[in-house]
Amino acid sequence: MIYDLHSHSTASDGVLSPSALLERAVEKGVSVLALTDHDTVAGIAEARQRAETLPITFISGVEISILWEGKSIHLAALNIDETHPEMLALMARQKILRDERAAKIGEKLAKAGIPNAYEGAKALATGEVTRAHYARFLVAEGYVRDDEHAFKRYLGMGKSAYVKPMWCSLEEAIDVTHQAGGVICVAHPLRYKMTARWVRRLIEDFKKAGGDGMEVAGCNQTPDQRQLLARWATEFDLYASAGSDFHYPAGWVELGKGLTLPTSVKPIWTCFSL
Ligand code: AMP
Ligand code: MN
Ligand code: MN
Ligand code: MN
Repeated sequence: MIYDLHSHSTASDGVLSPSALLERAVEKGVSVLALTDHDTVAGIAEARQRAETLPITFISGVEISILWEGKSIHLAALNIDETHPEMLALMARQKILRDERAAKIGEKLAKAGIPNAYEGAKALATGEVTRAHYARFLVAEGYVRDDEHAFKRYLGMGKSAYVKPMWCSLEEAIDVTHQAGGVICVAHPLRYKMTARWVRRLIEDFKKAGGDGMEVAGCNQTPDQRQLLARWATEFDLYASAGSDFHYPAGWVELGKGLTLPTSVKPIWTCFSL
């Protein structure tokens, strides 16, 4: 059984519609897929409906952006009731913050000599506007050669168009997820450009605040990295999750690819009644 509990659709910065995402997951042999768009549940209804006629189990999710120690961190909420009023209220608050930040990023880019970036990023988005849409605009207009350079030069923390986000707290994301009947995981713990010491602090705070799990298996990891994450999951008594963080078809990150969990950890899906 292949579990992939982290993926994106056109409801945020993925390029496949929720239906096309489910179809691709089936093609790639995924048995259980969670859709976890950035701060939105707008794609869930379509995804669930498409899954009903496919040989796949669908899990509703959302990747919640939080601010922790001044840093933007992602938590993957899984198996939620996406219609729960507290979850919908959190999504509405995050949307306002996201729109305000997107406009400010546009203003900063204008000052850096790049006009109409807000309009350009918005035109590339069918759902929530993320920095990934700004990166795609900067590449399309020839300002940078790829997404990575867009973050290095303009959009990354401390760069000329960086705007500090005001996302919700760790505690709020955990509380709302639990109220909506779900479980919550630290997403991609090794992708925050933080030292191992800081990542451990994050995981420790998350556990103390009542968090349930952490992603242990992802694409683009070395075996050593996966083992390190598995050790932390055991040390902090957290469930382990597996997710590709698929955004678009591009070889190195693929739905369901290489997501085997080490046998030492407790899989997060043992919390679901599938
Ligand atoms: P936001 O939620 O608006 O801060 O946007 C974050 C999204 O930007 C992530 O989910 C990725 O899809 C993308 N992203 C972040 N850093 C990079 C990077 N260095 N290269 C390419 N995409 C990135
Ligand atoms: Mn993304
Ligand atoms: Mn993320
Ligand atoms: Mn993601």
